[in-house]
Amino acid sequence: MDCIFCGIANKSVPTQLVHEDERVVAFRDLNPQAPTHLLIIPKAHYASIQDVPPEDLGIVGELVAVAQDLARERGIWPSGYRLVVNTGPQGGQTVGHLHVHLLAGRQMMWPPG
Ligand code: 5GP
Ligand code: ZN
Repeated sequence: MDCIFCGIANKSVPTQLVHEDERVVAFRDLNPQAPTHLLIIPKAHYASIQDVPPEDLGIVGELVAVAQDLARERGIWPSGYRLVVNTGPQGGQTVGHLHVHLLAGRQMMWPPG
């Protein structure tokens, strides 16, 4: 399978990681939309959050736990941040490997447009 985020997770695509554990990696977005824009992904390939089977949903909590840790480590809490999981075409998803965006460092707007 030709998946850029699998390549980042398995190190065949060299990328500076800001977090790595057994099941999760995080790295900077190539095209940042905020002063801090990180992507947090499972090492296992899921095409989207909709494709995570019920028995594997624990991984979503692990992604959020990594977001909490990064927010603490980087001092972006308590200022605040936004987690985004774009899902499917109308959700704005462009890379078909589940990822959580962590955006911070500027005032976020709502609605997102
Ligand atoms: P999506 O639109 O699917 O929610 O988000 C995909 C994100 O991945 C985009 O923000 C895009 O800038 C980022 N991205 C796409 N390809 C790469 C890459 O090869 N390396 C990194 N670091 N980010 C990427
Ligand atoms: Zn993948």
